[in-house]
Amino acid sequence: MLYQRSSALFDEAYKHIPGGVNSPVRAFKSVGGVPIFMKSAKGAYMTDADDNVYIDYINSWGPAILGHTHPEVLEAIKKQAEKGFSYGTPSELETEIAKLIVENVPNIDQIRMVSSGTEACMSAIRLARGFTGRDKFIKFEGCYHGHSDSFLIKAGSGAATFGNPNSPGVTAGTAKDTLLARYNDIEQVKDLFRHNQGEIAAIIVEPVAGNMGCVLPENNFLQNLRKLCDENGALLIFDEVMTGFRLGFGGAQEVYNVKADLVTYGKVIGGGLPVGAFAGRNEIMNHLAPKGAVYQAGTLSGNPLAMRAGLTTLELIRKDGNFYKNINKTTETLDFEIGKILNSKNIEHRINRKGSMMSIFFHINAVSNFEEAANANHSLFNNFFHQLLANGIYLPPSGYETWFISDAIKEKEIDRTLEVIRKFEYS
Ligand SMILES: *Cc1c(COP(=O)(O)O)cnc(C)c1O
Repeated sequence: MLYQRSSALFDEAYKHIPGGVNSPVRAFKSVGGVPIFMKSAKGAYMTDADDNVYIDYINSWGPAILGHTHPEVLEAIKKQAEKGFSYGTPSELETEIAKLIVENVPNIDQIRMVSSGTEACMSAIRLARGFTGRDKFIKFEGCYHGHSDSFLIKAGSGAATFGNPNSPGVTAGTAKDTLLARYNDIEQVKDLFRHNQGEIAAIIVEPVAGNMGCVLPENNFLQNLRKLCDENGALLIFDEVMTGFRLGFGGAQEVYNVKADLVTYGKVIGGGLPVGAFAGRNEIMNHLAPKGAVYQAGTLSGNPLAMRAGLTTLELIRKDGNFYKNINKTTETLDFEIGKILNSKNIEHRINRKGSMMSIFFHINAVSNFEEAANANHSLFNNFFHQLLANGIYLPPSGYETWFISDAIKEKEIDRTLEVIRKFEYS
């Protein structure tokens, strides 16, 4: 494939945009090479600036769960655009989407819209702190909750120590209130509660992690977190920015039958437009301004175009009684068939999968936390990524990311993908 125009566009972007991109993972730093500039996307496919066509396994990092540019969503956005892009006042659409969500997702009474997953998680933590009157919270290594200061924290040395800033610009003062534990390690969480009694406002967790590659909760991890929160008067926050409306309409709460106190959303909820949200029971959500004292706001929150895109996407999912069955089946087929091919090539690997999320770790052992994900053979992944890319298969450009399967990926796309993987050679 030729990438002449893409390369020229990147050179030009590089002069005016830091690193040439508006979000770091797009820069291909992990896999090497020059990022490819897309110019259009429809169904299962994206077309780049040089007219190369790709089967897309990222789907905008999740939002395009119906496939790109679904005709009914497109029509709904067009119609709404005629009526205005943004009012800065309440509109009926906001209630419509809120109603659809709270009536069909377990355990939430109210939902507040924002414009990104970052905002949703940042606001959920503030609300948890305001509600409990406590400052500290626990997060897990390898889980991502957006780029607000208190989440950009890495583990210090020793299990039960304070976190350290993971980016310049995050202060030590902020870092001291974020406690780190290993994903799937309930003993570390117990330790943290023991050493910080009465100080922990919340645990925030990706109920299925997608930001260290796909990593599943094991040994009743989520149930045990629920129990520890109850015993210690802390709130359990499920970050369902990836899993919400993807694992099922009710997200991980429904699939694992564990109730969270607060839930954050993003990605699918906006159907491709910028939307995030956080939700919970009345007793907690009532603490939010203007009803309560915990402040949170947004000029474009509940934006009518974005609400229309999200609402139409969610309605289409709900109307199709087999939606999740179908995308889960597609993902299972990919898992089994890719596994067979890699086995036939004697390539050591593990495929982690839940619902329509999956990733391949080139690792001899199971991967159930960040350290294990980091120990996978990432140079082999990078090789795999580039060979597939050169043959029109677009995977997430990092071994620490998850594939998001869309409803537009059908037998034809699966067959083509497997055909390319059959020719894969580790070089
Ligand atoms: C993507 C993501 C976020 C951040 O969402 P943005 O819309 O990128 O700000 C937060 N949490 C999880 C689990 C995510 O996957």
